[in-house]
Amino acid sequence: MTTRVWTDIDFERDGKQFGWLYLPHSVTRSGYGNLATAIAVIRNGRGPTALLMAGNHGDEYEGQVVLSRMIRELEPSAIHGRVIIVPTANVAAALAGVRTSPIDEGNLNRAFPGDPNATPTFAMAHYYDSVLFPMADAFIDVHSGGTSMDYLPFASICLSGDPTTDARAKSLLAAFGAPISIVWDAVDLRMAEVAAAKRGVAAVSGEFGGGGTVARGGVAIVRSGIENALRHLGILPANGAKPANSRLMEIPTNDFYVFCPEAGLFEPQAVLGDSVRSSDACGLIHFVDNPAREPVQVRFRADGLVVCRRHPARVERGDCLAHLARDVAA
Ligand SMILES: [Zn+2]
Repeated sequence: MTTRVWTDIDFERDGKQFGWLYLPHSVTRSGYGNLATAIAVIRNGRGPTALLMAGNHGDEYEGQVVLSRMIRELEPSAIHGRVIIVPTANVAAALAGVRTSPIDEGNLNRAFPGDPNATPTFAMAHYYDSVLFPMADAFIDVHSGGTSMDYLPFASICLSGDPTTDARAKSLLAAFGAPISIVWDAVDLRMAEVAAAKRGVAAVSGEFGGGGTVARGGVAIVRSGIENALRHLGILPANGAKPANSRLMEIPTNDFYVFCPEAGLFEPQAVLGDSVRSSDACGLIHFVDNPAREPVQVRFRADGLVVCRRHPARVERGDCLAHLARDVAA
């Protein structure tokens, strides 16, 4: 199965190119039309390739801001090798400011390895997986919590099980130098970073804000982290700086998540950055449609640091209310 995506970009040409990935998308408004996803390729000779992605979830903005800025600012003369930048990977979702594509409700980060003959989200996942990932030595996919979640900023990796790929991913994570670095255990094969790792690409992701806004601190961490990673790869020249100390953490089991038991209004009793113990109060679910009813007490199920919490107050059964991470034993 080959991709239907076409582009005027020549990935082997030196210099700076900005263009579009065109996916044929025939609709009433435009019978022979295309869905156009922005891409930039900055190349200076043979060398390592870094693929930088944001807008995988359309309502996560720090990466979209930083990668758009890098397209304007990064010049071929500054690098050795190649940087490929896709700042709005699920373009319909990014332009609408929502997590999933309004065209097909597709969640790009649950669509890998994709399908060239399926709906646009799956067709683009297939292009990224089968065309861009094989070009890349390293892949950085910038997330944040989106409209529904808020995060303490961290960079992260998912272990692939391949010792060589995982060692390169760990080195890249350390080089990125975010204040917190997390190793995820809950691996979902439909996620971009996991698909990239399966192809032997060192893949770093991370959550750098949330709540549907742009976190100033998150923007700074993403920009410096990407530049640190490019120095580590030899794409940007070394500057002699030592990698920043990063707190290495893990999310080992589903018990580190707290899910909503029934619909209502969520009043948090812990904030991002709190250290909590199992059975500590996470929050109360209020029933404002029946104010005489006592709220339901929701509790944490593990010891750890609160790195994520739900942003909007209205909740339904099954929503993630918070999740924790714990320090990796030295
Ligand atoms: Zn995301």
